[in-house]
Amino acid sequence: MNKLSPMVCARPPEYDVVMHFIRLSKSHTDRRPVRAIAFDLDSTLTRPYLDFTRLRAQLGLPEGDILHWADSLPPRQRAEAFAAIEAFEQDGVEHVAWNDGAQETLAALQARGLPVAIITRNSRTSLTAVCTQLDIRADVLVAREDATPKPDPACIRLASVRLGVRVETLLMVGDFRHDTEAGRAAGAITVLLTNGKTPTWTVEADLVIHRLPELLTYVEKE
Ligand SMILES: [Mg+2]
Repeated sequence: MNKLSPMVCARPPEYDVVMHFIRLSKSHTDRRPVRAIAFDLDSTLTRPYLDFTRLRAQLGLPEGDILHWADSLPPRQRAEAFAAIEAFEQDGVEHVAWNDGAQETLAALQARGLPVAIITRNSRTSLTAVCTQLDIRADVLVAREDATPKPDPACIRLASVRLGVRVETLLMVGDFRHDTEAGRAAGAITVLLTNGKTPTWTVEADLVIHRLPELLTYVEKE
């Protein structure tokens, strides 16, 4: 499906020959090879554009995993819940905007020859609408219909397969614990983006950055 999407671009010709690394500390010796980068969407590539407090109020679900909850409902309520979630996601698309420095960071990494995936818990309709709105061209798009969503590692593994890279060389960048938990469980290298906020959970990530452009200082060519 991805190959037919207008948002999916061809791999650059140097894809197979250029090796990149990520430094995981100030030490230049502590670095790991990187073949591709996977980004979360909401609050990572984009500014927060979904008001989950409003959705939770609408669904009557004050806490817990929304998708997991919806999936566990009887068929009719399940369909109604997912219709409400999809409408909510679609509402947010028209207000979507790039996160600080995200457009430039993505362009710079792609110019270096690194393939890019976007992995989101959103629907494919919502994901492709955001990509169209912001003119994002990724090599691989993974929405919730494609694989069990984060924090399950299946979506990370699917991205690595579709990108044609070993998951150990895939960088997973996201702003929430779901992103780093899924990445770690899959065996990817994980980067937590704080957006300048202090995480309210115990962070387990290979690297923590506060703004997305910082990533460019850690990813280097051989
Ligand atoms: Mg996010």
